[in-house]
Parts: sequence; structure tokens; C-alpha cells
Amino acid sequence: MNAFQISSLITSILSFAFGFFIFFNNRKSRLSRAWFYASLSISVWSLALFGVVSATHERSALLWQYLLDAAATLIPIFYFYFILTFLNLDEKKKFAKNIAKIFGAIFFLLSFTPLIKLGVTKLFLGFYWVEPGPFYLLYLAYFSFFVAYALYLQLKIYRISTGSFRNQIAFNLVAEIVGFGGGLTNFYPVFFNVFPLGNYLVAFYIVFMSYAIIRHGFFDLRIIATEIFSVLLAIALLVDFLASQTLGDYLLRGILFFGTLIFSYFLIRSVFREVRQREKIERLAKDLETANAELKRLDEAKSEFISLASHQLRAPLTVIKGYTSMVMEGTFGEISKKVSEALNRVFISANNLTKLVSELLDLSRIESGRIKYEFKDIYLEDVVEKVLKELEEVSKAKRIAIEFKNENKKTFSVFGDADKLYEVVMNLLDNALKYSTASPIAVVLKPRSKRLALSVADKGLGIPKDEMSKLFIKFGRTEIAQKEQPGGMGLGLYFVKKIVEDHKGRIWVESPGLGKGSTFFVELPAK
Ligand code: ADP
Repeated sequence: MNAFQISSLITSILSFAFGFFIFFNNRKSRLSRAWFYASLSISVWSLALFGVVSATHERSALLWQYLLDAAATLIPIFYFYFILTFLNLDEKKKFAKNIAKIFGAIFFLLSFTPLIKLGVTKLFLGFYWVEPGPFYLLYLAYFSFFVAYALYLQLKIYRISTGSFRNQIAFNLVAEIVGFGGGLTNFYPVFFNVFPLGNYLVAFYIVFMSYAIIRHGFFDLRIIATEIFSVLLAIALLVDFLASQTLGDYLLRGILFFGTLIFSYFLIRSVFREVRQREKIERLAKDLETANAELKRLDEAKSEFISLASHQLRAPLTVIKGYTSMVMEGTFGEISKKVSEALNRVFISANNLTKLVSELLDLSRIESGRIKYEFKDIYLEDVVEKVLKELEEVSKAKRIAIEFKNENKKTFSVFGDADKLYEVVMNLLDNALKYSTASPIAVVLKPRSKRLALSVADKGLGIPKDEMSKLFIKFGRTEIAQKEQPGGMGLGLYFVKKIVEDHKGRIWVESPGLGKGSTFFVELPAK
């Protein structure tokens, strides 16, 4: 055998092996099916080429040549299909696909007529080669067109793609140029007296593709490698078995052979399963990523909406409150007691609504990370006094006294934002008033080793043990509170906790149980 024959045979075997293994790994994948057909046509063509150049009689050379041409007319079509599938264009290029189908069928049939070949002749090199018919040039044009079109599409997609897909295309491009460029030199001897040296390169096409498979995960290499290894091992053991001399040898080697077969079967199956699982996980992770990004976007949109809506609600509420209090104060003339009472209700409702709106605004600020602090050295008792003054009216109206016991007496200060800490104390006292009917509410401020502790104790609803954990979370409310005070939103303490923690302090609650009152504690670092 000369080098030309050997290279043709190697191309045929390699092409078939790669096509076969890839196809049987993933029979459902369109890409591996397309690759299988292309490989099969290349394999048959190369085998026929081997037959033609090895033939010693004209008759057998001609028979091989028929097979060669029949297979060769299918190569550009199957290859074109493979490229369309690989580039995900097979839906978009339906028309081109159908045209290719028709041309493929026409040239396949023509290959059996004298229009393509008149016969075979002995070449100057000593082996048989095709003797072209009148349509031979057309056949060359058809072949080149689809290969060139596949090349063009890959270049087009290559320019706009990224990552590993781009690498895969690059490898495929090189493989195509080398393989088909080489293969096309087989047309040379027909027209010129030139040796078809390029045919050696066809084997490189397979090598290139294998490299692409290994480096860039074209098809799954691990399964293929396991399978090839197992098959080789089985063949070696089978040969060894057949070469046995004694019965004992037959038995031993037979067991070894069958044992290996079974072992290989399970090995391939487990690798297969693992690879599929990994693929599934990768797919799931990707889905999760997109879902997460979408959730984040929705969450931001929601915060933005809340912030916008609350801003818009604030202005009219201020106007309502302003005018109601002016009317109640008699700015627009005397009003009756009945009207005054009604207006008072309007005022209280508007006030509640304002609180709600500002809670929503606070929430949107927390969510978007837009809370801004102005830290200064301040006395916590000043903050408490300010809140008490503000609540004087309400506490009188509810007949619940608020007793403040200050044990600090401006000894320790805290480094904090006075307005935000005002919100904290206000929220705690507001809740104490809201959730109790019995007097008094006891507020105590006292220093505790480098810290200042503020406690607010009431004799109200209390908090059941199993519901304590939900107080400081967003929209968290106890069942009894929902029943008694349906207007609340469960945002106040969430906000309070955030502020306290931003001051490096801590907040917690203690309660002996339902109906037995509760005490809220805030501890802040002190100087
Ligand atoms: P809201 O008062 O609007 O419901 P908060 O975040 O201020 O929201 O309070 C969350 C929940 O904690 C309340 O719904 C209530 O169940 C409970 N809670 C808060 N303060 C008290 C208190 N002083 N006594 C009993 N339960 C309270």
C-alpha cells in the first residue's frame, strides 16, 4: 500500500468512528445526527477512493468510482446541513435547505449517468482515475458552491458571536478550509496532470475536528473517550481470547473478555449519566440566573414605584391637614361642635395616612439603600423629651400617662442621627400607646457599661412567645394586633431595627405573654 491509499483508508475509518460514536452518544441531538451523516458520506467517499486507487482492473475501479461519486455528491449537502444546525440557522434557512436537497438529489442521480463520468482511465501516476463526462464541471461547481456557502455563513456568524461558540466556529472554519481545500485537489488530475496531494489533508480535517471536540466541547468528549477506550480494550481482549491455545486459556480469557464487556457497559452508562446530569445542572443554573436578574429588576421597579407614589401622596395630604386644622381653629369663621368633631376625625385619618405614607417611603429608602445619616454627638434624653412633648395630646386623649425616668442625666452621649433616633423613640412610644389601654407607660433611660439602654414598657396587648420573631421583619404583625388595630402595616419596627443597627446598637422585646404587656429595649454605644 502506498501513502495515498493509507491516507484514504485512515480518513474513511476515522471519519466513520467519530461520526458513529458521536451519533450513538446523543441520538436525539440534531447536531450529532447531522455530523453523523456528513461523516458517513465522507467515510464512504474515502473508502471508495481507496478502492479506486487500489483497483487492479478497470471494471472494479469503475464500480468503486460509482460509489465514490454517489457519496461525494452527498457530502456538500450533509456538510451544509451540519453547518446550518451548528449555527442554529436551520429554521431560518429553510429555503436554502430545500434547494440543497433538490440539488443533492439531482447530482446523486446524475452520478450514475455518463453525464458526470464516461468511465475510468489509468492516470500518469499508475492508478485509475475518473474520466469526466460533459456535466463534470457543473458537478464541481455544485460541490464548491455549498461548501463555499457553508464557509460564508460561518464567517458571518463568527463575526457577531462570542465566547466558546466563537472558538468552535473558528476551529470548524480552519477544519473546513484544510479538509475541503485538500479534498478539492482530487478534481485536479481530471483537468491537469497534477497529483492530488491535497487528499492527505482530508485526514487532517478529522484531526482538527477532534481537537475542536476536545478543546471546545463540541460534542461531549468524556463519553466518546470512554467508549473508544472500552471498544479498543474489548477488541484486544477478543483477539487475545481467539488466540487461546488450551481450554483453560479459553475459559480464563473468555471470562476476562465478558467481564470487561459488562464492566465497560456500566462504566459508559455511569459516565453518560453524570455528563447528562451536569448538563442539566448547568442549564438549571442558567435559568436561575435569568430568573434572579428578573426578580431583582422587578424589586427595583417596585421600590421606585412606592417611592414615587408616596411622594405624590404626601403633598395633597399636607394640604388636607393644613386646611382642616385652619377650619377647626376658626380661621374661616365660627363652626359648630358637631362640625368640629367631624373635622377632628378627618384630621386624625389624614394623620394616619401621612404616617403610612412616610412608612412606605422609609421602606423604599431601605430597599434601595438610600437612607442617609448625619451623625453627631447627641443626648438621647433630648430626643425622648421631644417625642414626649409631641405625644402629650394623644396620651391625654387616651388617658394613658407616660412616665419618663432619666438615669443618664447627660453623663453619656451617643454618636447618632437625632432625626432618625427620634423616629425610633417615636415608633416605640406610638406602638405602646396604640397597643395598650392601661396606664402608665414607663420609659427608662440608663447607662450600662459603655452603652445607653432605653426601655419602653406598657401594660397592653403583650406578645405571645411564638410570634416574637416576626415583629422586626417587613410586614410582620401579631394576630391580636391585626384584629385590634387593622390599620397597621408592620413596617415601623422593621425600620426601627434598621436604624438601630446602623447605629451599631441592638433592639429586642420582652413580654410575659398575651395581655400582659411588653417592654421594648434599645441599646446604643455611648461616650
Ligand atoms: P404596626 O404597628 O404598623 O403593625 P410595627 O412594625 O410598628 O407595625 O409593629 C409590628 C407588630 O409588632 C405590630 O403589628 C404588633 O403586632 C407588634 N407590636 C409592636 N409594638 C407592640 C406593643 N407595644 N405591644 C404589643 N405588640 C406590639
